Formats: sequence, C-alpha cells, structure tokens
Amino acid sequence: MAFVDGQIQIMKNKKTESTSEFRQDSISGDWILFAPLRSAGHKFEDRAKTELAKNKCPFENPAKFGNKPPVLVYQDKTKNDWFLQIIPNKNPAVGPGLGSHDVVIYRDHERYLADFTKEEIKTVLAAFQERYKSLAEEKNIKYISIFHNHGKEAGSSIPHPHSQILALPILPPYITRSVDASRRYFQEHNKCTHCRMLSKELKEKKRVVYQNSDMVVIAPFASRAEFELAILPKKHFAYFEKIKEPELFALADALKVSLSQIYKKLKDPAFNFFIHTAPVDRSSSYGHYHWHMEIMPKFDIIGGFELSTGLDIVAVYPEEAAEIFRK
Ligand SMILES: [Zn+2]
Ligand SMILES: [Zn+2]
Repeated sequence: MAFVDGQIQIMKNKKTESTSEFRQDSISGDWILFAPLRSAGHKFEDRAKTELAKNKCPFENPAKFGNKPPVLVYQDKTKNDWFLQIIPNKNPAVGPGLGSHDVVIYRDHERYLADFTKEEIKTVLAAFQERYKSLAEEKNIKYISIFHNHGKEAGSSIPHPHSQILALPILPPYITRSVDASRRYFQEHNKCTHCRMLSKELKEKKRVVYQNSDMVVIAPFASRAEFELAILPKKHFAYFEKIKEPELFALADALKVSLSQIYKKLKDPAFNFFIHTAPVDRSSSYGHYHWHMEIMPKFDIIGGFELSTGLDIVAVYPEEAAEIFRK
C-alpha cells in the first residue's frame, strides 16, 4: 500500500502482476476498484435507441399534450420558434408543497446537446441559472438539482432531448457528504479540496482532457464510471447559478467539447450529466464549496457485488480515458 499526497491510497498486487487497483476518492472517501481485465473485449456497441415518432412525442408541442403552461420560454430569434421551454413535470417526483420538478425541453426532436453550438449551450446554461434563481426564492427549498439523462440506460424515458430541475426541501445524501467533506477540509487546511486537486491535476496533466481560460475538464482519479468526466472552474467559487461571462461561455465550451468527445469516441452512449452547486439552504455558509459539473457515460448495469458492497468496479483507468479523449 502506498500513500500518495497523504490523501489517496493505492493498493497494487505486484506479485501476481494484477493490474487491478483500489483508489480512494480524496473528497468523498469512497473506494473504487479498477479492474481493467474485465474490459477485455470491451466494445462500444450501439445502445438500444427508443424510437418515438414525432407526432406521438409529448415534447413537440407540450401544451397540446396536456402539459401545464411553461414557467420559462426562450425564443429562437432566427426561426420565429421557441428554442427551449421549461414546464412542470406531468408526473413530478416531488409535487407542490414539497418542492418542484421541471422539465427543460429543447426544440428539436433529434438534435442532441452534443450537436448544439457553444452559443446554444450557453443559452441552455443561462436558462438553468434563471430557473434556479427563481426556485431558490421559494420557501423551504434547500437544494436544487439540475441534471440531464441521455438514453434509456441513463434513465431517460422520452428520447426527445430534455434536462430536468428538481427543487427539494432537504439536502440529499451525496450533497450532504460532499459539502461536509469540503467544509471539513477547508477548516483543517484553510483551503479548498477541489482547488488542491485541480492544481495537482494541472501539474500532472495525465488526467486533464481539455482546458480553456476558465474551465478544466478532467477524468477524475477515482472515477465512479468508465470515461467519467468532471468540469471544474479554475477560480474558486461556490455557486454555479451566479457565474457570468466569460466563465459562462467557457463552461459552454468545455461542455460542448466533453459531450462531443463522448459522442464521437464512445459512439453515442447513454450518459448523465449534473451540476453540483452549493445548497440553497441559507442557514449555513458555503464559501468553502467549489461548484462543478460531472458527466457519466453509462455502460454497465449495477450487479450484486456493487449493490452488496457499495464498491464500484470500473474497467477503464481515467488516465487511459483522458488519453482517448485528448486524441
Ligand atoms: Zn419530440
Ligand atoms: Zn476551490
């Protein structure tokens, strides 16, 4: 067992020349088992695509399909049509009184976010921010989750491109854990754990996939899934919803690069992306937190081992993933 950086433990079995390795996430403390042998013959097969005819798609004309009126609409100035609209989910996971569940619908039935221009992605991010800020004003909301599911395997039931925004009256477990870990690190070291990790990654470079003026895309050291990516702002800041130009465009650029790389190199896999920003909860201060985005392609179905141990098995090392994405 070796200690690297005092935070990360690596175990390697040199005797059997096993290429498996346990890695611990320095922020969450979670262990991940990297087992590349499992990937022998790892092929990127086309995912099973859900077919849905346009005339049966509830997102072509949301109002006509009995949806509530949109809470936010962005027009496409060049086409005299809407570009995106945010509507309340017809079957919300959390209903009025508890929180809210919105769907962010993009106009085109077959145009994925990876095909959007950087300007269009920036508009999407600005819509997330605008809706976030108005939800944050509502009573009892403690956390707002913004995420995107692409493909059935990633939990998307309707193939028409859309994202979701859930406002919750509690702090969900992953958020509590990551916020607490970041606070603890800040109190002990008087600096941010993400900033520390970022400067180390920028020095080492082997897990850096892309960077621009304000954002860095990395394949995380202890990624929970094959080809997972994280986008982090270079400047320490807790709140995604408050970023402005030039960071917003830099984020759009980094997201465009990440989604296009995933689309091209992995042949359009199912994936999830989500934004981790500081909680809305005003009873606490979150200056220690470092907002970021995570993008997780979906290849594996979780098996009994993962369920029984909480230990994820990942077949591709992030260094390898980063190299593939950089090419
Ligand atoms: Zn559609
Ligand atoms: Zn930071």
